[in-house]
Amino acid sequence: MENITKIFASKVFNDSTMKKRLPKETYRALQKTIKDGKHLDLNIAHVVANAMKDWAIENGATHFTHWFQPMTGITAEKHDSFISPTGDGKIIMEFSGKELVKGESDASSFPSGGLRATFEARGYTAWDPTSYAFIKGNTLCIPTAFCSYGGEALDKKTPLLRSMEAINKQAMRVLKLFGNEDITSVKTTVGAEQEYFLIERDMHDKRPDLMFCGRTLFGAMPPKGQEMDDHYFGTIKSKVAGFMKELNLELWKLGVLSKTEHNEAAPAQHELAPIFSTTNIATDHNQITMELMQRIAKKHDMVCLLHEKPFAGVNGSGKHNNWSITTNTGKNLLDPGKTPHENAQFLLFLCSVIKAVDDYQDMLRLSVASAGNDHRLGANEAPPSIISMFLGEELTEILESIERDEDYDAKEKTIMKVGVHVLPRFAKDTTDRNRTSPFAFTGNKFEFRALGSAASISGPNIVLNTTVAESLKQFADELENADDFDNALHELIKRTIKEHKKILFSGNGYDDAWVKEAESRGLLNLPATPDCLPCYVWDKNVKLFEAHKVFTATEMRARYEILLDNYSKTINIEALTMLDMAKKDILPACASFMGHLSDVVIAKKSACKDIQCTYEENVISKLSALNNQMFEDVLLLEKELEAKKEIDDAQKLAEYYKDVILSRMAKVRKSADEIEVMTERTYWPYPSYADLLFGVR
Ligand code: ADP
Ligand code: MG
Repeated sequence: MENITKIFASKVFNDSTMKKRLPKETYRALQKTIKDGKHLDLNIAHVVANAMKDWAIENGATHFTHWFQPMTGITAEKHDSFISPTGDGKIIMEFSGKELVKGESDASSFPSGGLRATFEARGYTAWDPTSYAFIKGNTLCIPTAFCSYGGEALDKKTPLLRSMEAINKQAMRVLKLFGNEDITSVKTTVGAEQEYFLIERDMHDKRPDLMFCGRTLFGAMPPKGQEMDDHYFGTIKSKVAGFMKELNLELWKLGVLSKTEHNEAAPAQHELAPIFSTTNIATDHNQITMELMQRIAKKHDMVCLLHEKPFAGVNGSGKHNNWSITTNTGKNLLDPGKTPHENAQFLLFLCSVIKAVDDYQDMLRLSVASAGNDHRLGANEAPPSIISMFLGEELTEILESIERDEDYDAKEKTIMKVGVHVLPRFAKDTTDRNRTSPFAFTGNKFEFRALGSAASISGPNIVLNTTVAESLKQFADELENADDFDNALHELIKRTIKEHKKILFSGNGYDDAWVKEAESRGLLNLPATPDCLPCYVWDKNVKLFEAHKVFTATEMRARYEILLDNYSKTINIEALTMLDMAKKDILPACASFMGHLSDVVIAKKSACKDIQCTYEENVISKLSALNNQMFEDVLLLEKELEAKKEIDDAQKLAEYYKDVILSRMAKVRKSADEIEVMTERTYWPYPSYADLLFGVR
């Protein structure tokens, strides 16, 4: 076993490596830049680049890349080698400060939502020194932001960094009011729990739907699913254990704090949870984790499926985004304190989140929207698409008593007065976690549980940071002008609870009754992606993001367009894949099997004229009806795909895909799945759900 403490972060140019390798003044100057978020002086950058290059070469790197996160949702990189000719037929290894700090990117084919006309194809990438450079394979990866020459964000990192600045600014105003002189900055922290499936690679490669769409478009349920709950936290199969071991090792080398791993609810489903870190680093690390999962699975002859719903009827995959706010002095602002003073501050920060989630339910819903996640949300396996919050019984009672000036503790007759009383120690609630809530308080952090497994966590955290920044801004505006701080604080908390308690819900979020109740409370219910994407351009949302300098109106419109386009394209690929599979494999397979049965009937009857052919004739008749029905739906699907050409509005097109194409696809699938259960195994062209879900040994 390798020495883990030694290999941890061995492939990261992190603080301790910088300290060791950089001249003192350079190190200090760089630290200052990182802390203040200022531009790096080119002379300093040059020294850093040189040290970085030497370190990278010693660790086997020959190339460098600006590693960035375009709107495609996956990371992008273009590799350049360090070599530079010296004019005498030889080379030296070179890496300049300019190359470190800024990269030119001919990135015309990355989605920009019209922000960058293709003739003006160049955007640029800029080093984010708050996220460390690392080595992957033979390449030094430099985490960068990706912008157009006009300065518009074309990626998922730039707005995330801006949103962290926004919440820092407003939280600092509030913290000053509580007299925290020692605190100079706050950062949000995130721990993203990642779910995924592992299946055998050779079976995966036999299924065009998995190859092209990452999810199955056909497949009847196997006799055994997840009903026995025997996979959840069960023993890990040796092949999977081998994968996890290598994954952990590689993640640790890259400084990713991979901590726990276990089997999940569905067969073949697993989860990895890291120890939390600063939000932008957690976001980079989650991208790295997803990338390594896919690469390492292949080495072990498996495929890692990150899609939110690879198998119909089986639990899909999500991501739990554990989120909190921490000061530079290491205090978690969502941790209830021990003194009345600390408690008051905690309650105010708690209220800032409650208000943010209520005021911007639409943006939170939007931040987790994708064609893949639409299959999970509200399908009794993941939170509903209605955003609500769960605080736990005890904290809910405390808030209610504050709101009504009533006894919190009936026996002791305590009326909770903010800033006067110590909150009772409400134990970290581990038993009564409401797993059906999309947004739950878990003792000292919030867990946003509606995220899809495949998407970057950047979007939801941009929304969380910015909307909480807005609550804090309003609170600071009010409290800074108050004559009597304690009184104003108490009144503000009371009022916030009163105005926003409609977002608090402790019941069963999977229950149909909740949909009705949520409606009567006036909560938003936006079931599918095309329903919520327009929120990007709602006036109140544009105002919010502009006010906190996170997005410009143009950037928001661009993102809206990119997501619409992405949604329609995803379903278009699925529909085309479905047609291909149906026409070339499934319909002919069914016909062949019917042909075979007919031959049996003829053979039987020629052997014995009056023989009964009940099985054969019954199956032929049922299969024939199903195959005809399926063929009819296939033709209609083709026609409906053709008809989309008439729709030139992107929003209408996305709605068309949702309402018309997806419903037709469901019909095609229904017939095919019924055919599958009646067809002799050897005639069926694909590995079945049983093969896929129970195939890994
Ligand atoms: P669980 O019982 O759900 O496993 P844990 O306390 O182990 O809960 O945490 C789950 C995730 O939350 C982990 O990734 C953990 O690192 C993260 N987490 C814990 N504290 C914080 C925090 N203050 N900010 C952000 N994430 C956190
Ligand atoms: Mg969790």
